Amino acid sequence: MHPLIVARVTRDPWPDRPTRALCDDRAVTLLTQPPTFTEPRSSALLLLGQGTDLASERGVECSGALPAASDPDLVERARAARAALGERAFVLGHHYQRDEVIDFADVTGDSFKLAREAAARPEAEFILFCGVHFMAESADILTSDAQQVVLPDLAAGCSMADMAAIDQVEDAWDVLVEAGIAEDTVPVTYMNSTAAIKAFTGRHGGTVCTSSNAQVALRWAFDRVGGVDGTGKVLFMPDQHLGRNTAVLQLGIPLDQCVVFDPRKPHGGLTVQQLRDARMILWRGHCSVHGRFSAQNLVDARAAVPDVTVLVHPECKHEVVTGADMVGSTEFIIKALDAAEPGSAWAIGTELNLVRRLAAAHPDKRISYLDDTVCFCSTMNRIDLPHLVWAMESLADGRTVNRIVVDADDAHWARVALDQMLALPGL
Ligand code: SF4
Repeated sequence: MHPLIVARVTRDPWPDRPTRALCDDRAVTLLTQPPTFTEPRSSALLLLGQGTDLASERGVECSGALPAASDPDLVERARAARAALGERAFVLGHHYQRDEVIDFADVTGDSFKLAREAAARPEAEFILFCGVHFMAESADILTSDAQQVVLPDLAAGCSMADMAAIDQVEDAWDVLVEAGIAEDTVPVTYMNSTAAIKAFTGRHGGTVCTSSNAQVALRWAFDRVGGVDGTGKVLFMPDQHLGRNTAVLQLGIPLDQCVVFDPRKPHGGLTVQQLRDARMILWRGHCSVHGRFSAQNLVDARAAVPDVTVLVHPECKHEVVTGADMVGSTEFIIKALDAAEPGSAWAIGTELNLVRRLAAAHPDKRISYLDDTVCFCSTMNRIDLPHLVWAMESLADGRTVNRIVVDADDAHWARVALDQMLALPGL
């Protein structure tokens, strides 16, 4: 049997976590209706990013003419521009992108995979990054100076990454210094953070992590300050949920030794004693998509489909992850569904564009969305076909638009933190 399915049978979201952190064999309601994939209602957010209402575009304008979304020749224009660029360009598409964009991606993946794919294409003059800002920054850091990384819409940011600004993080570090614990603290930042935060992490001897390797990264960080069973600490940024879920469920750190540092409060809203007693200092950040899923969603999913397997991303809240049957990164979710038995039922807690594509790719499986309301990543959805066409046509005309450039010092130190991650075992 595939190991992913073993995880389902044991109802252990993370099979290698300490057993005392488990497990929830709740009763489930009998199935009354066969599940089907239900298209959530559309969101006005999907109308953004098309240049028709600049008042709602948060000051982001595209130079030149942005094609209208209603242009009947849009797909043809995209094909023509892509053909004109040929091997000079490489188009990366994050899993959460719209279908219309994914159709033109040379490769799809999560943020880490895409950064590596960009680095593996030194011959490409242009890297068109259909993702969000921090991902394009990572691609710029990992590619040569001769390559240009382009983000088709500069408003495609990440609300989670934006929750940790560099001046806030530097102030927070000063608080740790004042509390006398900075020397025993290693910073670990999630891939979903700005280049400035990655650089801060590199300067202070820490590492970047992804949702796939957070356990290894945290263990490495604790080992630098006396080990998981010692007294050293990790400052984890910016996603409190990934940090908490990994520390508690995979490393066995007690929940009450995880504290949340709120940058909007004096001293993070924590006393010196709370900081000294903590093992995990979690930045108060979260993903606006994965943070929406609730424990009630799990109850509802199981009430509707008793044999459903609930599979969620580790950016979800702790109670959602502990109540799920399986948890894993975007790539893990994709592989789990590839390996699933025909006829099996799944409720997936991650971004909707991906879940829709997975449902379409696996018509023999019953795949539903864990939430009953729309849950696209609104910033990812800023990248649409008009912006991609505009970017590609501009490049083909000899104009580089929306280039993402990380300043040299930040790029150096962010690279140190990224290289540290690449040196972790198991990557
Ligand atoms: S899904 Fe969440 S973490 Fe990913 S880009 Fe959107 S807001 Fe950021």
